Amino acid sequence: IVTPRASAEKLKDPDQLIDSVETFIFDCDGVIWKGDKLIDGVPETLDMLRSKGKRLVFVTNNSTKSRKQYGKKFETLGLNVSEEEIFASSFAAAAYLKSIDFPKDKKVYVVGEDGILKELELAGIQYLGGPGDGEKKIELKPGYMMKHDENVGAVVVGFDRYFNYYKIQYATLCIRENPGCLFIATNRDAVTHLTDAQEWAGGGSMVGAIGGSTQREPLVVGKPSTFMMDYLANKFSISKSQICMVGDRLDTDILFGQNGGCKTLLVLSGVTSLSMLQNPNNSIQPDFYTNKISDFLSLKAA
Ligand code: PLP
Ligand code: CA
Repeated sequence: IVTPRASAEKLKDPDQLIDSVETFIFDCDGVIWKGDKLIDGVPETLDMLRSKGKRLVFVTNNSTKSRKQYGKKFETLGLNVSEEEIFASSFAAAAYLKSIDFPKDKKVYVVGEDGILKELELAGIQYLGGPGDGEKKIELKPGYMMKHDENVGAVVVGFDRYFNYYKIQYATLCIRENPGCLFIATNRDAVTHLTDAQEWAGGGSMVGAIGGSTQREPLVVGKPSTFMMDYLANKFSISKSQICMVGDRLDTDILFGQNGGCKTLLVLSGVTSLSMLQNPNNSIQPDFYTNKISDFLSLKAA
């Protein structure tokens, strides 16, 4: 469903792009902030877009926080963004389960951190697992079998800094042995930037481990899958051609926008450099690219 584009155009006339859409979807890390640091010029840029009547939506693949927790983060950074404008992959997992009428008597086994647990709780979905699960070493005595809950109807896997072998085995038993058990991934990001000194294994590594033991492909609810885009278009009754997706990553953000039929803008304030964009091996080309979102304010058409 991705229409190949020849090559990205350097953004020269931001007003033309702004006038051509009614909604901006912003990726968070690398666009709005880097870790805990706000990127230069973001508050002024968001204010300008709001003053022009644009709808602003924020989408992040980082499942460790709930939308409420992200609301606090935006507030701490001095940004005027409400919880209802934030769509994290933790929320996406809960929203997906709600959208399929996940049975009330079934439970979700969570491999992930607090954000997923909080969103499932808000959605009224029973769960088990989470960060502290399986902390004790498994004693493999002869005849030992791990028991699992037969009422687990879905395993949700996200980024988990407390990942361990117990969780792999538990998730595997649920997926393999509970009839119809779903395997849902919040995202499959290969790497993440926990520190600016190096790349760290991302949520895709936990998803890959459970994919490896079950030999099953997960259903991904975060970027670049179309679930969130369809959800947003439906919730706000927006036509996807009236959306511009702004992100720093080609294989998640830009693909997410292109899969949804939106306009796409790559910013170079995050993980993608100009040379990565222009590398002949890269086939994902956004409509436009620019250094950072505050170029909306500083660039004036010649
Ligand atoms: N997953 C984790 C664990 C992260 O730390 C990050 C970025 O900080 C991401 C995913 C990507 O987040 P985003 O989609 O906002 O770029
Ligand atoms: Ca990003």
